[in-house]
Amino acid sequence: MDLVQQIKEAGVIGAGGAGFPTHAKFTAKAEYILLNGAECEPLLRVDQQLMERFPDEIINGLAAAGRYIEARKAVIGIKGKHKEVIALLRARIDALGLAGYMEVMELRDMYPAGDEQVLVYELTKRVVPETSIPLKVGCVVINAETALNIYKAMAGQPVTETYLTIAGDIPRRMTVKVPVGMAIRDVLQQCGITNPDDYAVIDGGPMMGSVLSGLDGFVSKKSKGYILLKKDHFLIRKKSVSVERARVISKTACEQCRMCTDLCPRYLLGHNMQPHKIMRALSYQLADVKEQQIAQLCCECNLCELFSCPANLHPRSVNKFYKQKLAEQGLRYQPVTIEYKPRAARDYRLLPSKRLVAKIGLTAFDKPAPMTAVDWRPEYISIGLRQHIGAPAIPVVAVGDQVQAGQLIGKIPDNSLGAAVHASLNGTVTEITDNSIVIKVG
Ligand code: SF4
Ligand code: SF4
Repeated sequence: MDLVQQIKEAGVIGAGGAGFPTHAKFTAKAEYILLNGAECEPLLRVDQQLMERFPDEIINGLAAAGRYIEARKAVIGIKGKHKEVIALLRARIDALGLAGYMEVMELRDMYPAGDEQVLVYELTKRVVPETSIPLKVGCVVINAETALNIYKAMAGQPVTETYLTIAGDIPRRMTVKVPVGMAIRDVLQQCGITNPDDYAVIDGGPMMGSVLSGLDGFVSKKSKGYILLKKDHFLIRKKSVSVERARVISKTACEQCRMCTDLCPRYLLGHNMQPHKIMRALSYQLADVKEQQIAQLCCECNLCELFSCPANLHPRSVNKFYKQKLAEQGLRYQPVTIEYKPRAARDYRLLPSKRLVAKIGLTAFDKPAPMTAVDWRPEYISIGLRQHIGAPAIPVVAVGDQVQAGQLIGKIPDNSLGAAVHASLNGTVTEITDNSIVIKVG
């Protein structure tokens, strides 16, 4: 079976957050395969520890993917501060005889170093054009955990587990391997808090993650972490503002200082993303849709909203609002530039991670979250059929069926973009809905 078929059958999706089905990334050839090991979201500690624990598997997974797309070079991007991991990866690349093909490049400790387009520029000095993807400049990017899952897929192992960090204002910070489908509530019990009602939980990193409205959800293949903070923490208050409220506040108070634009990572790459113009359109109810179409260039990194804006406004939320409106009207931004060059001031405007962490009130919680073994014994698991971008998986089991860990339970619909899903533990199927398959474990 060829590699793409193995990846497809194993249900591998981008583990970095978006959940794009990985087999669909490998349909074209590219000059570079890049490993995104930046892990730039504050407090998350997954990828750096996976690279430390499974260097050979990640290197081999990356090399296999690179060879499949006929890449002439594989590059691992990792922040220079992870000195020991970098030394280990370099030693293992040598030992595996891949030194002529693969190299490790050190990234600056800034946010958002792991934004796909920022990473491509930092590693290759190529700018991905507006509205485009890295393939346009000869690059395919995968995340460290995705490379590990590719390696496992080559051995016939489907994706049934994910690694995630539990961090924040809690006594026990840790990174754990969790079966896909575990109840979030059960996972969070590990963190050692006794007053859960005082806390709110961010699903994912503190910058791009959103506050969970409740704890009734389940871990998916793309879960990367949960950040627990007291409900009155700045981040929770800021992230809990509704889009409508964000629009009202932003409309009245924007002083057009353009700090949001001057520090925007996509603007700094030479794109036309200028959030202050979107804010202007909002304030003066300008009807020029062209100005608002640039909202589609926003990667939603949240830097403008959580760091740049001196008036504590919500440019990202406003962008998101316009993106939605434009999508509803079927409008798409048309790039006007062909050649892109980063802005001259880019190097001076990159945001050091430490400053960001301080600004968003996380310095006290910016601590290790060591890999910790947990013997999970859930009564039920709920495996999502929509964990990925594309069409939901179609169940191939029925209520009452006995299933084994690793067994296919949901397939990709014919002629669709999607990902297969598998049982993560042995058990009996008790319920099937449009969204999930519930399994009684045992
Ligand atoms: S940084 Fe804030 S106040 Fe300044 S232009 Fe942007 S949204 Fe307006
Ligand atoms: S969220 Fe703000 S800073 Fe980030 S890309 Fe969008 S406009 Fe730029």
